[in-house]
Amino acid sequence: MGSRRDCTWILGLSGFGVVRVEGDGEEADSRLRIWLQRRGRKGSRCGGCGRPSRRVRSVRDRTWEDLPWASHPVTLVYGQRRLICWRCGIRTERIEFADPKGRVTRRLRQQIGVDCQSMPVSHAAVRHRVSWSKARRAELAFLADWDSRRGRRRPRHIGLDEIQRGKGQQFWTVLSDVVRGEVMGLRRDRTEETAKSLLATDLDAHQRAAIQAVCTDMHRPYLNAVTEVLPKAEVVFDKFHVLQHASAALDEVRRQEFFRAGAVMREHGRGKRWLLLRRWKTVRGSKRRELEELFAANHRLFKAYVLREQLDRLWTYKTRPGVLDFLLGWIKALRWQRLPEMDRLGDFLFRHVEGIAAYCDHPVRFGVVESVNTTIKAVLRRARGMQNENILLLKLKWATARPIRSSRDLARFLGLQPMYSNR
Ligand SMILES: [Zn+2]
Repeated sequence: MGSRRDCTWILGLSGFGVVRVEGDGEEADSRLRIWLQRRGRKGSRCGGCGRPSRRVRSVRDRTWEDLPWASHPVTLVYGQRRLICWRCGIRTERIEFADPKGRVTRRLRQQIGVDCQSMPVSHAAVRHRVSWSKARRAELAFLADWDSRRGRRRPRHIGLDEIQRGKGQQFWTVLSDVVRGEVMGLRRDRTEETAKSLLATDLDAHQRAAIQAVCTDMHRPYLNAVTEVLPKAEVVFDKFHVLQHASAALDEVRRQEFFRAGAVMREHGRGKRWLLLRRWKTVRGSKRRELEELFAANHRLFKAYVLREQLDRLWTYKTRPGVLDFLLGWIKALRWQRLPEMDRLGDFLFRHVEGIAAYCDHPVRFGVVESVNTTIKAVLRRARGMQNENILLLKLKWATARPIRSSRDLARFLGLQPMYSNR
């Protein structure tokens, strides 16, 4: 082994010096054990209050896993003291390079944490030669640390939405900042209680006061929760949810016209569902001709399609009376068409017109709402079976806030500065 000074320099943990280095074997990838001691005049500090103390009650060797030296994984060994602090009583000594209960050093935790955001935990564990549970805990600590350093935002528009958990009738309720497109809170279920507790506990009074509009679907429990917890905020219905109802009505018309109208018609309408549910402007070339043939075969379907296409214009008006006028005109155009599903849709929209027209005063960015939902679904798919709500929420926050967008961001996250701060 080189001199102790060289080893101390290579290790680079300020305040600590290397006493001795031992290898577990002769192989190139055998584990190194590095014994440390404190250097300098600063001495040990209490883990509770951070004050220096010279009264040592006992000493026990503890180990931490650290960054590798070439291909050797590294374990640090240090005799951690139990100090008698005149303020806190008996406390363990503060260790600058690791979290109080951490089994890996902060700089290793940092690397595992960043890696876990772009690969499965099991892969990151193999890559950094730690156990799966250590990698998982390191990721949690890393994300929690990142989240605690961020300021609390006060968005004027928030979103309250349900996300399906796997198959079946299980849901999450997600609270998001739809101005910046970031997740803010997560709860199991989609009941009124769930929504209330999200709004009341995940947001502080300061944040609640800033909210002008809540973007949500027409789920009754959510509406009740918003009226109760945020009486001043207005509800804006999510455009995509409204249009989903319109598409469902159109699909019902398709079923009526083709599938319940005998074998010949049924054959004609087969395999056209997704084509029909697409928007006209996204259909091109031969598909467009196919759609035109379908409409030529059935005029009522054509009418229903056009009516759905027109609904888009609900969100182009600048005033509430404008929206109402348009909707009334749309409902009027339905008369004599004998399209009961569309009639029902008309009633439905009329009942909810206030929440649709609220968009005039609170132009929520529906595109952002949509992209947050897409990101959430992608994370949930990757995190299949993840039961821990806490880490799932942190992962969603990370994925939607996207704190690493450039190589400079990555360098900042892997940088050494934040590691020695004990806050
Ligand atoms: Zn203390």
